[in-house]
Amino acid sequence: MQNAPVKLLNSLKQETVRKFCFGPVPSRRLGRSLGIDILPKKTCNLNCIYCEIGEGTNYVTSPNEYYPVNEIIQEIDSIIESNIPFDILTFTASGEPTLYSKLGELILFAKKKTPKPVAALTNATLFHLEEVRNQLSNADILLPSLDAAREETFRKLNRPAASVILKDIISGLKEIRKSFKGLIWLEVLLVKGINDSEEEIQALKKVIDEINPHKIQLNTIVRPPAVIWAKPVSMERLHEIRDYLGYNAEIIVDFRPKSIILRDDIKANDILEVLKRRPMRFYDIESIFALDKHKLMSILDELSDNKKIDSRIHNNEVFYFNKGDYDQ
Ligand code: SF4
Repeated sequence: MQNAPVKLLNSLKQETVRKFCFGPVPSRRLGRSLGIDILPKKTCNLNCIYCEIGEGTNYVTSPNEYYPVNEIIQEIDSIIESNIPFDILTFTASGEPTLYSKLGELILFAKKKTPKPVAALTNATLFHLEEVRNQLSNADILLPSLDAAREETFRKLNRPAASVILKDIISGLKEIRKSFKGLIWLEVLLVKGINDSEEEIQALKKVIDEINPHKIQLNTIVRPPAVIWAKPVSMERLHEIRDYLGYNAEIIVDFRPKSIILRDDIKANDILEVLKRRPMRFYDIESIFALDKHKLMSILDELSDNKKIDSRIHNNEVFYFNKGDYDQ
């Protein structure tokens, strides 16, 4: 008779591994979000101190077709055909999605394939390029980031490649706001002692008013960051900043899952795939998969015994992460 870890490893081998699609996962902003991760790990031109993927070692600054576009299209096609319930299809990446040179083709395919809205998460660093703005033009919602309005703070917080300049990001955001037909929800991630002072917020407000996004979404560090010294701002400070920024600002930190993915065929690989994208607490995973606590505990124990996952403490909470994909 096989022991439990051997049985688990065998079952992992038999499961179909999705290479690009993950979830649906409950998203703070988007409901049940079916994620499409289109890049190899940490393909990015920034190395933000709060990055959940971990520390980067090499910057990537030029768009490329990192995986064959047809391979991604086939997987999107088959997952939509499987009738899995979701509210929105979100292009995201283990890095910056606009560094995928055929993102426009993928968005167009998704728009034709499903009536559900299509969104893209982005660090906005390439918005000053007309070609990149065109690639995004068929999406319904763009979720760009802008954490600082001063170059010095931007460099300290987002640690960009040498070629990435804050003024290009700001001008690209203004440009896309004029041409893009859908919604732009601008995320500002606040880190204690870095971009939360009066001076920083005043400078940000001036620039954000000029960009005029449909929403301003304030966030802070809720999961283990790339650098251990990066700390979240308090809820009290977030409320002050929200009130100062105006009527279209909201706080998106207080995450509660908006929906539960009820599936009776949850496998260890489904949990590994979700953990590959971001570290999660026990109750996050429990909420996503609606699994019995004891069953989830035993899957996590076995994944841990088999060195597939590990855990790390952040803000006095235990986060699990996929050992193969996250730096410690
Ligand atoms: S948080 Fe996003 S933009 Fe920043 S380094 Fe990580 S992947 Fe790149």
